Amino acid sequence: MKVIREIKPMQEIAEFFRRAGKTVGFVPTMGFLHEGHVALMLAARDECDVVIASIFVNPTQFLPNEDFAQYPRDFLRDFYICKQAGVDYIFNPSAEDMYGENYKTYVNVEDLSEKLEGKYRPGHFKGVATVVLKLFNICKPHYSYFGQKDAQQVSMLKKTVKDLNLDVTIRICETIREDNGLAKSSRNTYLSEQQKEDAAVINQSLQMAKEKILANNFIDAETVKKEMKDMIEQKAAGSSVQYVAITDNELLNNISDLKGFKGDVLISLAVYFGKTRLIDNILFTK
Ligand code: AMP
Repeated sequence: MKVIREIKPMQEIAEFFRRAGKTVGFVPTMGFLHEGHVALMLAARDECDVVIASIFVNPTQFLPNEDFAQYPRDFLRDFYICKQAGVDYIFNPSAEDMYGENYKTYVNVEDLSEKLEGKYRPGHFKGVATVVLKLFNICKPHYSYFGQKDAQQVSMLKKTVKDLNLDVTIRICETIREDNGLAKSSRNTYLSEQQKEDAAVINQSLQMAKEKILANNFIDAETVKKEMKDMIEQKAAGSSVQYVAITDNELLNNISDLKGFKGDVLISLAVYFGKTRLIDNILFTK
């Protein structure tokens, strides 16, 4: 496994493999890797001849008041996890190289990026779409792997690929969870042991909502959302639900008529545990 820190050599390596007729798989990450990231790497390893993983804490997707400076980083640990997962190249650029002085070009997926998370993190998805497009242009993948954990990111990137005719196929991998159901996340390191235990209620509330929606055709979206919020806040002391949304999975429009709706239902939410903000979701077909 090799570590590439500069843009031009990474482009040349990717181009070399493409010309040799090899399939290139790519896993973008912000590092501090866990089993969720490893699942993406293994899926890429299974499908592709060459696997590139990027480790880059992207400054443009953090809001000024967010945790960019505190975001956990441990390159050596990540290096060994990548090696173990069969990654061929780690791309680990500097922010200066990615966004040189006077950087001006951004990708904005209108509408989609303003919904759900976008309401509370304005500008976040502009940063995500921009960095992912840049990384695609550098790592030149045939396939790129993303986690369902970040459902809105997936919907938005699929739309970017379609709208901008990008020559890459997006692969989605299911959310990897702790034994108690808490979705794995680099940000879980901010939680105390008690909070990690309590946060199991997030997934429980999603399962409860799914069962209710599938079992009871007369239930309305507002009732489901309220039940989820109450369940979480009652079971987990110090938790506070920022939002729960019940939407379709493509344009992320609210589903108000749950009874009449047919198709994929996405329930997503953000919950604060103290200062730590956790997101999760469940996707199912009705
Ligand atoms: P991040 O390092 O948080 O930017 O995540 C990099 C990639 O890993 C994204 O595609 C995430 O959706 C994915 N990911 C993060 N957590 C999980 C998880 N628990 N299960 C599956 N994929 C995940």
